[in-house]
Amino acid sequence: MKILLVDDSRAIAMVMGARLESFGHDVKHAINGERAIEFFKAESFDLILMDIEMPGMNGFEVTTRIRALEGLDAWAWTPIIFVTATDTDTNLVTAIEAGGDDFISKSVPENVLQAKMKAMSRIAAMRTRLYLANRKLKDQASRDGLTGLLNRRAMDMQVDIDWETATLSARPFSLLMVDVDNFKKYNDHYGHQTGDDCLRAVANCLEECIQRVNNDRVAQGAFVARYGGEEFAVVIPDAAPGVHAGIAASLIESVHAMGIPHELNGNFGVVTISLGAACCDPAVGEIKPLFRLADQLLYKAKEAGRNRAEVAWPTGWPADPA
Ligand code: GH3
Ligand code: MG
Ligand code: MG
Ligand code: MG
Repeated sequence: MKILLVDDSRAIAMVMGARLESFGHDVKHAINGERAIEFFKAESFDLILMDIEMPGMNGFEVTTRIRALEGLDAWAWTPIIFVTATDTDTNLVTAIEAGGDDFISKSVPENVLQAKMKAMSRIAAMRTRLYLANRKLKDQASRDGLTGLLNRRAMDMQVDIDWETATLSARPFSLLMVDVDNFKKYNDHYGHQTGDDCLRAVANCLEECIQRVNNDRVAQGAFVARYGGEEFAVVIPDAAPGVHAGIAASLIESVHAMGIPHELNGNFGVVTISLGAACCDPAVGEIKPLFRLADQLLYKAKEAGRNRAEVAWPTGWPADPA
């Protein structure tokens, strides 16, 4: 375990540190409460051994501060064991009240110390496993099973966050609604299984394009989600005016360029998408009308023959140079 040992006495810290290291632990010593908090902020520990009597901040105060810092993160709980010379019941009660987990005497016998460390190691391992399992669950809950893209729910949550941020900036917020063309015919002709493969390929293609856009810093924080069925949404929360039109064109082009055969897709011969690209000034616009506009534009793109994008420009921004 990685242990933070807080004690104002170098001598005691050396003895205790040596004992813990002999059990195979990795020990870092903080000479006072202020240092302990600095170390705690900078790295994570499996266990903190906390002296009580120290000049400046005492062990209880340090613990209260640490618990307050952890309060910001639902998963953070570093076990804290108080180590003190005066082994009284009052100290024990105060220790637990302050947010400590256990209490040992400085003269604790070797085997007791070792046993306590073993118990704490188990808790530390369990916390790590729980944390990882929880993270995996959260990730699974936000992903679409077929394509691995963010699902609708996760997208809605992210859009809320991005929209909040965007209202504080003076940059356009864009939303692209993407729909695979004549996909019902694709399923009917090639079978549902091949239909699934096709959706995965389209999803990958969109994802790669958007990653490139982010990597090249054309936009920031842009992402793709599976909106439902054969519909995808691309959110571009922060890009210069007009960038959404270029991204829309490159998505249409990239999907077409994959060359996935689709005999019943008009004269195109391959799988294509249509797209409605809406954009607004978040300082004056609203998110719901932006979704409606993207939908209307998508419909227009379908009407106009498919394999194309219909792009709207926010009023007040420079018009499309094309
Ligand atoms: P349009 O060009 O106007 O969009 O025509 P379309 O045929 O693509 O549109 P429509 O809404 O009529 O059909 C969508 C089809 O997408 C119907 C549905 O079976 C199929 N679909 C939706 N989700 C999935 C999926 O997860 N897998 C597969 N294979 N097909 C899906
Ligand atoms: Mg002391
Ligand atoms: Mg559709
Ligand atoms: Mg469709």
